[in-house]
Amino acid sequence: MPKITRIAAREILDSRAIPTVEVSLLTDSGSYSVASVPSGVSMSKNEDVELRDGDLDRYHGKGVLKAIDHIHKTLAPALIGRDVTAQEKLDAVMLELDGTPNQSKLGANSILAISIAAIKAAAGCYNLPLFMYLQKRYRPGSNLRVPTPIFNLINGGAHGAGNLDFQEFHVIPSSRMPYKEALRAGAEIWMSLRDELIHRNAIHSVGDEGGFAPNLFTNADALELMALVIKNSPYRLGLDVYLGLDVAANGFYNSGVYHIKDSPKPLDRQGMTQLYQTLVKDYGLLGLEDPLDHEDWKGWTELTRVIPESTMVIGDDLITTNAARLQQAITQKACTAVIVKPNQIGTLTETIALLKVAQDNNITTISSHRSGETNDTFIADFSVGLGTNYAKFGAPDRGERVAKYNRLLEIDSYLAKST
Ligand code: PEP
Ligand code: MG
Repeated sequence: MPKITRIAAREILDSRAIPTVEVSLLTDSGSYSVASVPSGVSMSKNEDVELRDGDLDRYHGKGVLKAIDHIHKTLAPALIGRDVTAQEKLDAVMLELDGTPNQSKLGANSILAISIAAIKAAAGCYNLPLFMYLQKRYRPGSNLRVPTPIFNLINGGAHGAGNLDFQEFHVIPSSRMPYKEALRAGAEIWMSLRDELIHRNAIHSVGDEGGFAPNLFTNADALELMALVIKNSPYRLGLDVYLGLDVAANGFYNSGVYHIKDSPKPLDRQGMTQLYQTLVKDYGLLGLEDPLDHEDWKGWTELTRVIPESTMVIGDDLITTNAARLQQAITQKACTAVIVKPNQIGTLTETIALLKVAQDNNITTISSHRSGETNDTFIADFSVGLGTNYAKFGAPDRGERVAKYNRLLEIDSYLAKST
């Protein structure tokens, strides 16, 4: 039984210069791990709480020294001496010490950093790569496959400096394409899109997730631009690659209506649903994430009923990686796919509970980074080990995104050689 002997935490920076939590964990078998947690900006009120200091004299109030303090004074003393491979127990001890429904006392950021450091160290105790340990522990006997990447090539909403309301415009290679080819397709289309934006003299700086952040007339224009770039590439739209959206509709929802550039008047839920029906028809969208406000269950059910089955209706802010909310969505037929972000729910055990509900109910799973990231590649191993269908790690540029896509390449080449 390998025991935890030391836990040390520190404040580091994420990709937006905002502090986040990093933890190192050591066991008596010599296995050592480091884990850090990401942070979102288009966050739902149903996510677990990321503890911030609120001290305006440091990092504009965004410091995480309180979370670090909780790790050293409360969490570490309760975990040292425990079996590092008993993940469920470790997570339960931390949740009990917190005692709140949303981890607001000790912080989901402090709890998740330890939760991930523990599973990494446990994999080390068995001398296994993390993805393989995760598969053996949680899905023994299942096939190992690198998930299909979802590339976010245009950034709007809370992530982009341009004028688009929708948050993410995706290029999604066909699931039939080998991962190496899929990554190449994403990178080549990203390069062609940059050339086209330069040619049009549009803004071509990148947003938080590495996609371009242009000024355009409407959100539909961004899809049109991507379709054009793909038409002039070796890839066939609707066969080799698809388009998708993360609308993140909470961002422009106010008092029952949605304010977007595509309509001179604010749109209600029916108006938005009709717009999506048109976009699905025109661009064959493969995925439609957070199309409506995260509490409009009725609207989501109606939208899922009328959108063709070939388009995934994806719950991110709707579900917040919460198994109970996914259960509700299944009962109400409110979505057909779910985003999986461990830091929305705070422990690995709870994240895996959500995945089990999804996988038992034929809900497509998409593991996801956050817009504020570190170079930690845990989410790449997680997506292979736990068998998620897709992996959404941003555009194929910016070091913190590329680290994850490259880790998938490493796993892919390992799997190719071992079959
Ligand atoms: C998302 O909405 O899917 C996303 C990754 O953004 P954020 O991390 O800002 O929530
Ligand atoms: Mg989202």
